Amino acid sequence: MPRLAADCMLGKLAKWLRILGLDTLYSNTWDEGELLAMARAEERVILTRDTRFFRKISGSERAIFIENDSFRDQIQEVISGLNFIPPEERSFTRCSLCNHPLLDLPREEAQARVPEYVFRTQEHFAFCSRCGRTYWSGTHQKMAKEMREEILFLSASE
Ligand SMILES: [Zn+2]
Repeated sequence: MPRLAADCMLGKLAKWLRILGLDTLYSNTWDEGELLAMARAEERVILTRDTRFFRKISGSERAIFIENDSFRDQIQEVISGLNFIPPEERSFTRCSLCNHPLLDLPREEAQARVPEYVFRTQEHFAFCSRCGRTYWSGTHQKMAKEMREEILFLSASE
């Protein structure tokens, strides 16, 4: 699995790459130097919307220039830049907020952590041991599935 580091303009993209299972570092306070140091230390592919920065690093670093404004098109740019489609079983294995790998949460433990309606209607739960967020299948999972299908369709038709 390729690992990524996104610049401060790519918060929404980073969130979606994590949902699709890609290890993506992001901070809205990073400057260029910090982003570059982090990417080098952990052999990450840099994602950037900054033309000048991209020109500066593209000779020496693995970097993908993100041109589009919409995050759906941006995901497509990342997938073609990496030439890699994240496998379906990787979806929802990372926290979309902090990138930490998710752990399964047994149903009986989920009861105290989610709204009553969610507990009654959902079967599978997961949680992030770093930020404490609880996840369940539902709207987001449906969106991730649709997103994957769209990516596969677009990649196949190129
Ligand atoms: Zn988290």
